[in-house]
Amino acid sequence: MNLLSVSCFNVYKYYCIGRNRITALENINLKVNKGEVFCILGPNGSGKTTLLKILSGLMLPDGGAVYILGHDLRKERKIIKSLVNFISGSSMIIGISYHSVIGLLHFYLDFYGVRRSKDRIEKVLEILNLKEYKDENPLLLSSGFKMKLEIAKMFLINTPILLLDEPTIHLDPISANIVRNYIKKLARDYGVTVIWATHFADEIEYFCDKVAILNNGRIVTVDSPFNLREKFLKDVSVVLKVKALNLRESLKKLLKEKFNVFSRVEIYYPDFGEGILKIYLRKDEDVERYLNFLNANNVKPLLIRKLPPSLSDIYSLLIEGG
Ligand code: ADP
Ligand code: MG
Repeated sequence: MNLLSVSCFNVYKYYCIGRNRITALENINLKVNKGEVFCILGPNGSGKTTLLKILSGLMLPDGGAVYILGHDLRKERKIIKSLVNFISGSSMIIGISYHSVIGLLHFYLDFYGVRRSKDRIEKVLEILNLKEYKDENPLLLSSGFKMKLEIAKMFLINTPILLLDEPTIHLDPISANIVRNYIKKLARDYGVTVIWATHFADEIEYFCDKVAILNNGRIVTVDSPFNLREKFLKDVSVVLKVKALNLRESLKKLLKEKFNVFSRVEIYYPDFGEGILKIYLRKDEDVERYLNFLNANNVKPLLIRKLPPSLSDIYSLLIEGG
């Protein structure tokens, strides 16, 4: 049985703005299996949306090849469009003016040639807690609810591949969790292939089967979160997390020079230098000497914790290079 669902070989994409050429994707190679939840994790501008647009058939690459369930994107774009459902959290469009939520969902079913099913619509409205909004005008709903409508559409139109571009960006944490849960179920129980792009490492750590980290249009690494953590643990096994006052970016360089360790500084209130300092440590390191160092540098710790590294730590270090 062929397990392969989506594959890219050597994919390139350029955008031209005047005389400038931007390389949005460079030498992308990916293999995604059926029923896999595959996340693309990358900062803004790393090429996530461009990649998903290509995989959905909305856009052709400038180089390389893409196959969706065995269909060549260059030759069978029309078939591919019927196999994938692409929804985007950042540019959702309810371009169709409809007087009610329920009317819009019926329209979607008709548009995609799916048999009308009152039960199915009711079920989707229930899952997404949209029932009491079914007679509202979709255009007047908040962005979170508009996003839920996009997701409702995705649930109604069954395609073997789902491409989700930052789908939880406008959702509250409870709704985001409902969506993640349902998507996981679609993948696990129905073999739907899910490609989920985000810049939130925390959101996908325990959700995805595999993650591709994308930076500047290139894939930095592809693996399961578990394997990434295992590899990372060889160098870093403890994260010393210090909430403190008087933090500054220059501490990173000082820590590197003095102790040869990587660190991150996230300042939330610049007037006080208040934020979080994370120092990535090897096993059995004496934490005291770091606290002494902070003291000598006038940093005032408010809260100190030792934690195992998270996917977010690994991602930050891979992207920023420590
Ligand atoms: P992401 O979704 O990860 O934020 P994008 O795929 O949107 O990344 O963008 C990748 C790069 O391509 C960025 O440098 C972005 O500015 C550029 N880009 C994206 N869309 C266009 C466009 N329509 N025209 C020109 N440049 C674009
Ligand atoms: Mg994007």
